[in-house]
Amino acid sequence: MAMLDDNIFLKIIEKKIPAKIVYEDDQCLAFADTNPQAPVHILIIPRKVIRTHADITEADEQILGHLHIVAQKLATKLNLDGYRLVLNCNESAGQTVPHLHLHLLGGRDFAWPPG
Ligand code: AMP
Repeated sequence: MAMLDDNIFLKIIEKKIPAKIVYEDDQCLAFADTNPQAPVHILIIPRKVIRTHADITEADEQILGHLHIVAQKLATKLNLDGYRLVLNCNESAGQTVPHLHLHLLGGRDFAWPPG
């Protein structure tokens, strides 16, 4: 199935499938990644369906900023002194779910450049 065919995150937003939700408000949700790549691996997603970063418009400025504020607050709450935010855009960059999401990764050291 092609990446853009199945938006499993919309099912999480609509509470049709379970997720370990750590934060939610009227604009976004944050929940644990089911295949964590670090001791802390949280996905932060807008309620609005934006398929990829390439689809954002100026109308999305506020929500994109909000996702970052939520990421920073979660990092503070979880006592992460350093953390990495990742946003994969399209399949060639590793995006597998067609709903824009920020990965908040922490709890270990990270190498650079990323793979
Ligand atoms: P990406 O590859 O950037 O699109 O990231 C998608 C992420 O979603 C991956 O890290 C998956 O492990 C994660 N994921 C997929 N399905 C679920 C789910 N039902 N609940 C939580 N995380 C999920």
